[in-house]
Amino acid sequence: MAQGRGPGGPFSRGFMTEEEKASQPKVTKELLARVFSYLKPYGKSLLLVLVCIAASSFLTLLPSILTGRIIDEGLVKRDLAALVRYILLSLAVTLGANLIGVAESYINTWMAQHITYDMRNQMYGHLQKMSQRFFTTSHQGDVITRMTSDIDGVQQVIANTFTSILSNVITLVIAMIAMFRKNWILAIIGIVIVPLFTLPTRRAGKTRWKYANESQACNDEINGILNETLSVSGQLLSKLFVREKYEYERYEEANGRMIRLNIRESMAGRWFRVILSTFTSIGPMLIYFVGGLLMIRYDQNLTIGDVTVLVTLLSRMYMPVNSLLNIQVDWMRSMALFSRIFDYFDIPVEIENAPDAIIPESVEGNIAFEHVQFGYEPDRLVLKDVSFTLRAGHSVAIVGPSGSGKSTMINLIPRLYDVGGGRVTFDGVDVRSLDLGFLRQQVGVVSQETYLFNGTIRENLRYARPDATEDEMEEALKKANIWDFVQAQPEGLDAMVGNRGLKLSGGEKQRLSIARVLLKNPTIFIFDEATSALDSISEQKIQEAIDPIIQSRTSILIAHRLSTILAADEILVVRDGRIVERGQHRELINVGGVYRELYETQFSKALLPEEDNPSELEQYLWGTQPADEPIEDLP
Ligand code: ATP
Repeated sequence: MAQGRGPGGPFSRGFMTEEEKASQPKVTKELLARVFSYLKPYGKSLLLVLVCIAASSFLTLLPSILTGRIIDEGLVKRDLAALVRYILLSLAVTLGANLIGVAESYINTWMAQHITYDMRNQMYGHLQKMSQRFFTTSHQGDVITRMTSDIDGVQQVIANTFTSILSNVITLVIAMIAMFRKNWILAIIGIVIVPLFTLPTRRAGKTRWKYANESQACNDEINGILNETLSVSGQLLSKLFVREKYEYERYEEANGRMIRLNIRESMAGRWFRVILSTFTSIGPMLIYFVGGLLMIRYDQNLTIGDVTVLVTLLSRMYMPVNSLLNIQVDWMRSMALFSRIFDYFDIPVEIENAPDAIIPESVEGNIAFEHVQFGYEPDRLVLKDVSFTLRAGHSVAIVGPSGSGKSTMINLIPRLYDVGGGRVTFDGVDVRSLDLGFLRQQVGVVSQETYLFNGTIRENLRYARPDATEDEMEEALKKANIWDFVQAQPEGLDAMVGNRGLKLSGGEKQRLSIARVLLKNPTIFIFDEATSALDSISEQKIQEAIDPIIQSRTSILIAHRLSTILAADEILVVRDGRIVERGQHRELINVGGVYRELYETQFSKALLPEEDNPSELEQYLWGTQPADEPIEDLP
């Protein structure tokens, strides 16, 4: 029913937080036009909703007006026929109002849901286009909040706030006209006292709202604790650091605070109801008193029915007045919501297809970096004048200390970021001129942090190629050296990998992710080797998987292990965002620079344990053996 409709959900409280006050958006013509542009496609439904609201607001008030007739025509005149007629009319009108109300709420909900459906799709599509920079700099929680609660809020605004303004205004206007027609003095008393009596209720509401806010903050804190400590990594952390007791006490304290606040809020609500009912009963008494006085002493035409109608109408006015007093806050909050959503829509798409993007007819797979400069932040260069060429079919290993810019270099190839200066080319064409889909299809990345989603092995593989056949998957898994593992699973390809692949070991995850990339069949294979130590069997299995790939495809390897480094045709040594050395293992060892230092401190460790006599391999690696020894022949 339209009458007395209070705005619901996040908009039901008529007060703003300090934070909200500080971040009130400027309600400009542009903002309003933009908000209404979402309603535009639903113009007809909107019109229908307006008509329904007007009709049901009017019909809902009509029985109150008919009460006068029931009393004056039926009861006072003792006319049974008139009594029955007005009672039936009243019932019919109420039924009609309710039926219209049902239709209105259906159309309204339908419209609000469709508008949010449009907005969600638009937002999701927009977020998909956002660059890696956006996702690394924004809080994941923020993104999810925009997608979920903010857009839910919009639905509330459309379904409740807009319609509540309308229904309340219509109800008040009709009630006032009806009151003035009956008696102007009583009407004026009504108009004056209703807002006066709603003020104390606002005060009581404010106290309650304060507690509700505090309890909300406490609830957020509790959710934070739960999220942190009951997550896979969180509970592991607390177990391993024996912090269960500490976490329990932290939870218990917040939980205790929460119930105390809830009790206070609930009691403030109790007082609120006492105040509300006391004040609302004063209004009708005043009308009875003044109405009675007028009837008895001054106005012979004023009937019992009229006074009763006025009292009934008065009681119908409290809710709309109260909610209209909150309208400004609701309105500002709605606008803040819209502008928060629009802020996201307005974030420019950093990396998008060039207007005349090229899709080459043939592909070779040559990659070149030409004087590439890049920084995540404008004032800090991470790559400084990086140049190298990787010819199709060859491979390059990028080595360097942690944080030197290795991963950054490979991020520029599939355009996860765009260069700040210079250019990256694919088959001689600037990657920024190539069709983004085409480019990314050519590049297969096995990253350090393998990301598998919670599904079966089959689903994870098919993410690379939805139409991959069983045979193709088997072949890829065999090449990635993980077929035996899959076969050993009772469910085979249908085995679940767990949340983010947590049911698999680091090595298994990486091999599965190699299989996924193989199914994608990219022209360029990029392998960001895990820095974290894998056991030697896992390492060997990965090595066996990637060696043939390196031999057969253009490959870029961010390498931490000697075996991977040696598999590449050329080694690029990166330090502090520059390529400081390049060449083959032996040459670089002889240079005695960064590479040799890395070799001595990192690469050689795993390979050459406590050997007293230098092995053949060691002699080769250190350059004391003839250089014509081919790398492939190494043990
Ligand atoms: P590692 O071997 O440890 O993976 P790396 O050589 O691959 O290191 P990069 O990941 O390329 O190093 O990082 C190079 C520099 O850029 C580092 O100083 C790092 O802090 C910074 N950096 C990396 N990613 C971002 C990002 N998304 N935003 C801002 N700075 C970043």
